[in-house]
Amino acid sequence: MENSESLPPTSNITVRRGEPLVVVTDVNKHFGELHVLKNINAQVNRGEVVVVIGPSGSGKSTLCRAINRLETIDDGVISIDGQVLPAEGKALAHLRADVGMVFQSFNLFAHKTVLENVTLGPIKVRGVSRREAEARAMQLLERVGVANQAKKMPAQLSGGQQQRVAIARALAMDPKVILLDEPTSALDPEMINEVLEVMIDLANDGMTMIVVTHEMGFARKAADRVIFMADGEIVEEATPEEFFTTPRSTRAKDFLSKLL
Ligand code: ADP
Ligand code: MG
Repeated sequence: MENSESLPPTSNITVRRGEPLVVVTDVNKHFGELHVLKNINAQVNRGEVVVVIGPSGSGKSTLCRAINRLETIDDGVISIDGQVLPAEGKALAHLRADVGMVFQSFNLFAHKTVLENVTLGPIKVRGVSRREAEARAMQLLERVGVANQAKKMPAQLSGGQQQRVAIARALAMDPKVILLDEPTSALDPEMINEVLEVMIDLANDGMTMIVVTHEMGFARKAADRVIFMADGEIVEEATPEEFFTTPRSTRAKDFLSKLL
């Protein structure tokens, strides 16, 4: 079925919605005795925004890290756009570049300028020329509203600005999917919205996103699907509407009652 569609002018990606992009099959992961991912099966389709929520310690970060191979898995298969993630090597570096990652704690390179933070990956991993990487980086910094900070060091920026730079850095690699692991949890309340707005803009633009967040407003506005995890398992999967109004499991009901 042909279902390509053109996107709003802010984007130069062509989205073919609906094809499986991230496929997680029968994945298990232990940390010592602790079974942190219990036979996880999940699929994220191109153009989809999936919000992962669940209590602390339920395995959300480990799942994100496994998808990016920052964490090994014991068994099962994770594929990105039809390619199985290798354990290591050059092929891994390339596949990993297809998965943008944004962490709770920004993780910018402290001794590089904002601009350098955004150009480094494209130059080193994608082999883009400095000139081209800088032009693209400036567009992305413009898009997330921090172009005027390009020459500064990360520590000179607010948390919200740093996180927007981190998003620009992830986008600079032209990833097929971006994973954001509690991107607003470390921010002062007044900075949360500026980051959520950038995320909503990306979602509207057709970016495939996996977002771990407790920001229910974002989930309601932007998510196609909510995955609820508890104790290393995917307990429930539903549309935000279904999940927030009629959660099926006791664990989800408990979780939501504490959150709201
Ligand atoms: P969440 O992101 O949902 O809060 P995590 O994926 O961070 O959960 O953690 C899941 C479980 O795995 C927790 O019990 C956590 O303490 C444990 N864990 C996470 N990372 C490690 C690690 N590197 N070594 C040992 N245990 C870990
Ligand atoms: Mg976590």
